[in-house]
Amino acid sequence: MNTEANRCLLCKNARCMNACPVHTNVPVAMKLYREGNVEEAAKILFENNPFSAITCQVCDWALFCYGHCVLNAKKVPIRWYEIEQELSMPYLLGQAHAELPAEETGKSVAIVGAGPAGIAAAIWLRQKGIAVDLYDSFPRAGGVLRYGIPDFRLDKKYVDAYERIMDELGVRFHGGVKIGKDVTVAGLKESHDAVLMAAGAWVAKEMHIPGEDNLHVLHALEFLKEPEKYDLGKKVLVVGGGNVAMDACRTAVRRGCDTTVVYRKTFENMPANKLEVKESQEEGVKYEVFTVPVEVKTDGSRTYAIVRNCENYTREDGSLATRILEGTDHEMDFDSMIVAVSEGVDKALMDGAYPDGMEGVFTAGDYNYGPKTVVEAVQSAKEQVAAISSFLGLA
Ligand SMILES: Cc1cc2nc3c(=O)[nH]c(=O)nc-3n(C[C@H](O)[C@H](O)[C@H](O)COP(=O)(O)OP(=O)(O)OC[C@H]3O[C@@H](n4cnc5c(N)ncnc54)[C@H](O)[C@@H]3O)c2cc1C
Ligand code: SF4
Repeated sequence: MNTEANRCLLCKNARCMNACPVHTNVPVAMKLYREGNVEEAAKILFENNPFSAITCQVCDWALFCYGHCVLNAKKVPIRWYEIEQELSMPYLLGQAHAELPAEETGKSVAIVGAGPAGIAAAIWLRQKGIAVDLYDSFPRAGGVLRYGIPDFRLDKKYVDAYERIMDELGVRFHGGVKIGKDVTVAGLKESHDAVLMAAGAWVAKEMHIPGEDNLHVLHALEFLKEPEKYDLGKKVLVVGGGNVAMDACRTAVRRGCDTTVVYRKTFENMPANKLEVKESQEEGVKYEVFTVPVEVKTDGSRTYAIVRNCENYTREDGSLATRILEGTDHEMDFDSMIVAVSEGVDKALMDGAYPDGMEGVFTAGDYNYGPKTVVEAVQSAKEQVAAISSFLGLA
């Protein structure tokens, strides 16, 4: 038994639960865990959040449950996520079998995107007796969990488990089908009662600097899909300060590269999980903060970036901004530059998707609101499944 459980106050109006985007019922699961009823505890976690076994590994707890524990004020907060790991990870690999619907409704939904939002929606919709066709341009299901987050942070056996669960539920998975190219959203709408767009945020944003199309420059999402495909050379610059930059730099340093993160603001401003920044430093990643590339050049066998220094300043309205300091040009050599400045959604996918207006087309996860987190994608899927059920007259 994890001794953390006995320190928990089992609060009535639990702050951890309120701060968790998918409202994990920590007090109820914690009580069951204390009583030794681990299977029941894991079952209620899975039913509320089929990705509990993954979110407990990849959530930024400091922002959510752990950061809001009432014991933050006086003592040390409860590490609930460790207990969730102990409960949900073996449960997903062993006992987790989604319950089959009592009866079929005759309705069908097409889902575009087999990331956590699409998979969670597929599970819940099937459990309501709705037929599901799930499309993804990748051959296998998982989205960022399979094709973004590196193995050293998430063992892919946890992602594989969802393929088994979807098979058991009769979700029809169509891998290697790019919607918008092979089939259109309007076409899916014609063949189904509703469509759920859960296509994530896979459009790599550019730095918009001269030389960005240099062969030594690649985008982090491309790199993380198949890191072993790339020969990075010795010296690697990673541009950006978010979680994608962290996965890129930590993958590069594991490949033996001399890796430096270049970030235009400073450590406190980084959107990346603070724990990951710390771990990357322990692994040997170096940082050049308040630095931004303004041009990439190749000169014979030498490839380098011209970079400038930056500084933060406060705008008149009190908000924080960053400016580039003219006259501070200097050079940084590299063999590979991995760009992780931001990602956006592919709006063009929806072009012509609404011959009859918005009716029957729903959006979930990162595709709905831009890049966020796994747990928020699951919560978004939950809300959209409720909206679809109501649209189909089943709620
Ligand atoms: C490298 C990286 C690391 C991250 N680390 C964390 C973390 O540690 N913790 C955390 O909580 N969050 C993390 N995130 C964010 C998190 O992974 C996402 O918020 C989450 O995966 C969003 O889920 P989703 O289902 O909306 O989209 P996705 O997981 O992006 O899945 C969308 C799917 O749609 C498919 N698709 C896209 N376009 C089409 C099309 N035209 N036709 C067919 N299929 C299509 C894609 O192939 C993909 O499989 C990370 C993101 C990245 C990129
Ligand atoms: S899903 Fe994430 S935020 Fe919610 S309780 Fe679990 S670890 Fe905390």
